[in-house]
Amino acid sequence: MKQIDVIVREVGLRDGLQIHPTFMPTENKIAWIEAEAAAGVSEIEVTSYVPAKLIPQFADAEEVTRRALTVAGLTVAALIPNSKGAERGLALGVHKLNFVMSVSRTHNLKNVRREREESVADFRRIVKMVRAQPEGRRPKVVGGLSTALGCSYEGRVPVADVVSYAVQLAEAGADEIVVADTVGYADPVQVHTVFKAVMAELGALPIAAHFHDTRGTGLANISAAIECGVRRFDASLAGLGGCPFAPGASGNIVMDDLCFMLDSMGLRTGVDLERLLQVRSIVHAALPDIEMHGALARAGLPRNYVRADERRAA
Ligand code: ZN
Repeated sequence: MKQIDVIVREVGLRDGLQIHPTFMPTENKIAWIEAEAAAGVSEIEVTSYVPAKLIPQFADAEEVTRRALTVAGLTVAALIPNSKGAERGLALGVHKLNFVMSVSRTHNLKNVRREREESVADFRRIVKMVRAQPEGRRPKVVGGLSTALGCSYEGRVPVADVVSYAVQLAEAGADEIVVADTVGYADPVQVHTVFKAVMAELGALPIAAHFHDTRGTGLANISAAIECGVRRFDASLAGLGGCPFAPGASGNIVMDDLCFMLDSMGLRTGVDLERLLQVRSIVHAALPDIEMHGALARAGLPRNYVRADERRAA
């Protein structure tokens, strides 16, 4: 059994592709999922259960989910904006339902067209639905908090609001809470403040961090979250994504660079860095017009690099 200190989760197929205008053919999505799982990434958010007329990129959500579920050892997650999405996920047998709501009111209204209280109530319904499933068919339910570190409409978001909604989703029955810097406003000091405050209230419930590198603070924010004790991170291969409010900006933190930094720090991710870098060519071949980021891909591994697991064994 492979020892892992930090869980890295690929979200590029959802967060990266959702604002990209070109449809990535289903076969290419599957090839990406299979190759990244083979490189050692154990959890992938493979799609989003939103209506295809809203985001045509996810018109193949059912097929992508079904085929991802055949990849041995992979935890298959999907984003859900509401209980309709949860129903689709339950029917497919997906492993993880990543519910998302925004901490800032305006963003929640624009994104899911409802008040935050309605989102919390919907989340309670989803947990109920999941718990009514027979054992073995119950996915994990994740409570995701968007705009927790800043909002493109409202600017700064009060820490008390983040804590309040984290507690409400936890009390509703979340198996995990994700705190997200959706628009890439966060800095390490703020990350420290917000995560410490949330973790103080949530006790042993797992907390994950979802950062964007829009303003270049992504990996610094990871480091701050690690100091707080966070051990689950979202990222996208080649930093795919971007920000609809900042044209040309980079997207999620770069999975390849994240894995390198963690490994270099002695934190085992279970990911083979060379194999992970090779996955980039699958994505590039499928979508030549998509912008790819990544410092490790440009510079390569340091000379005589010794992997974290080898250092541990020595
Ligand atoms: Zn995101």
